[in-house]
Amino acid sequence: MPWTIRVRRKFNAAHFLTDYHGSPEPLHGHTWEVEVYIEADKLDKGGMGVDFVEIDSFLKEILPDYKLLNEVFDFSPSAENVAKWIYDQLKERYPTLKKVVVWETENCGAEYVE
Ligand SMILES: [Zn+2]
Repeated sequence: MPWTIRVRRKFNAAHFLTDYHGSPEPLHGHTWEVEVYIEADKLDKGGMGVDFVEIDSFLKEILPDYKLLNEVFDFSPSAENVAKWIYDQLKERYPTLKKVVVWETENCGAEYVE
């Protein structure tokens, strides 16, 4: 598909890995950044593939802002697992979803592509 629609959104949340080289990681927080990539093969009359605002408000609805991720999820909340979880939430609504990237810090993140 010729277009990729990209939307970024940040959220704040604490987490710890339940098994970090054999023991639980200390609790800490991040301003996480999520990037969503949705493909489009055609545009509507206004020139849009997918409405940025619609994607952004769906992200706002689902992202666990100001939460302890270990209490929200039943899996170890690594960037890898959080990226897959967000991908799964979006995929039903946006079947042309290509990938989700989750950044824990400016330099460290994980990407999920099916
Ligand atoms: Zn972390």
